[in-house]
Amino acid sequence: MKSPNKEKKKGANSKTLTTATGIPYADNQNSLSAGPRGPLLLQDFHLFEKMAHFNRERTPERVVHAKGAGAHGTLTVTKNITRYTKAKIFSEVGKKTEMFARFSTVAGERGSADTVRDVRGYALKFYTEEGNWDLVGNNTPVFFVRDPMKFMDFIHTQKRLPQNNLRSEIMWWDFWSLVPESLHQVTILFSDRGIPKGFRHMNGYGSHTYSFINADNERFWVKFHFKTMQGIENFMQEEADKIAGKDPDWATRDLFEAIERGEYPRWRLEIQIMPETETEKFRWNPFDLTKVWPHKDYPVIEVGVMELNRNPSNYFAEVEQAAFEPSNIVSGISFSPDKMLQARVFSYADTHRYRLGVNYALLPINRPRTAKANNYQRDGFMRFDDNGGDSPNYEPNSFGGPKEDPAFKEPPLKISGDADRYNQPVVDDDYVQPGNLFRLMPPDQQSRLIQNLVNSLKKVPRLIQERMVSHFGKADPAYGEGVAKGLGL
Ligand code: NDP
Repeated sequence: MKSPNKEKKKGANSKTLTTATGIPYADNQNSLSAGPRGPLLLQDFHLFEKMAHFNRERTPERVVHAKGAGAHGTLTVTKNITRYTKAKIFSEVGKKTEMFARFSTVAGERGSADTVRDVRGYALKFYTEEGNWDLVGNNTPVFFVRDPMKFMDFIHTQKRLPQNNLRSEIMWWDFWSLVPESLHQVTILFSDRGIPKGFRHMNGYGSHTYSFINADNERFWVKFHFKTMQGIENFMQEEADKIAGKDPDWATRDLFEAIERGEYPRWRLEIQIMPETETEKFRWNPFDLTKVWPHKDYPVIEVGVMELNRNPSNYFAEVEQAAFEPSNIVSGISFSPDKMLQARVFSYADTHRYRLGVNYALLPINRPRTAKANNYQRDGFMRFDDNGGDSPNYEPNSFGGPKEDPAFKEPPLKISGDADRYNQPVVDDDYVQPGNLFRLMPPDQQSRLIQNLVNSLKKVPRLIQERMVSHFGKADPAYGEGVAKGLGL
């Protein structure tokens, strides 16, 4: 069968239409009624099955990153990094691994416009031979908060006001002005890169610090960056606003059509490596998600090329049902003490269990491809495979069931300190990196950044404006003065 998107093939075989259980329809146009003008009969199961399934077509949308587009592709390794990691995906130069990517906006609902000022999600699933590795990042290297306790409140500010279901810039700026660690991400968001020109022209960042473990069981901290090979391109605000009205699906269409034309988008995978011994020496907490590692301290190493070269054949099955989870790490790649990462390891799987059901990992898009899942999980809603057949459902057992393999054990990670709730004090450090970003922008970018901020901040109470101007000024005096002038403060 062909997609209505494609030209119909002459003489294509048509099949008999059936119910979900294979019973043929004699008539798919007219419901069963008592006489030509009479009421319908309850026995018309063809009609009621069709209607009941339709009524249940929508699964809950993702609370964040609801609107997205995805594509299949490959990651090809270009440099040997086996001194840092034993991960099979990086085992040799030239190695190709199948993967799936989903890009998204964060705040909007499933039908919202693509060309809004917002962070973009950059979620990747690599089907490696030792299980799926998911890297669930954004198009920015940092995030608004460094402690997950603040995450739910932050997202509420990006969603809708409880009273009237309207989005509210007052909520954004109230929160940001009271949480100065957000200044770095706010500066990126209101810069030119806050509205990327579709998904092909933006970078992706793993953002968190992860760990690499090599064959000698040595640990290195690592950051992942995917640099667009199409070049960075952004929409200016006025242009983006117009497109949001004319073609709210602009980025989704752009990605799909480019791949259909054979223009496969590519990203260069770069990593930054920090030896475990340097953790304490680094000027910043290397596990603070509001900070980057400056390139001069930790230069990037190019390790591969990711190419997206196949569109999904069914959006719901592949893009909507894709379940990315930072908890999917494979041997040779692991977590770090980053508090946001630790919370996401829990929260993604938790949200999939709610959104797709407990057996979400069995869906074709989420199943491992070269590896095989063997375990003692059984039953649950929508268990549509053979549910383990007649094999044992407990372990240890004497009947040849799958067994653990200590070869996959990670080296221990030394941790110390008293269990407590630590508020990383607001120190100058929160202003240095946003200031560095402001200072590296050429004057025209700086003035667009300031104008974008002023256009939004002019809608909020003066008290909040003043708090924000103080933060911008601490990052760089010219930054603070520019916004203050624009607001007439
Ligand atoms: P570098 O001069 O070595 O790197 C600057 C980085 O900034 C480049 O990666 C560049 O990306 C990126 N960049 C340029 N304009 C913007 C923008 N409007 N929004 C987001 N990123 C942008 O400097 P440092 O490594 O010392 O970092 C200086 C500042 O650059 C940081 O404080 C941070 O704000 C920002 N940055 C740093 C990154 C890092 O990992 N070190 C990563 C991304 C941003 P590109 O190469 O694609 O042009």
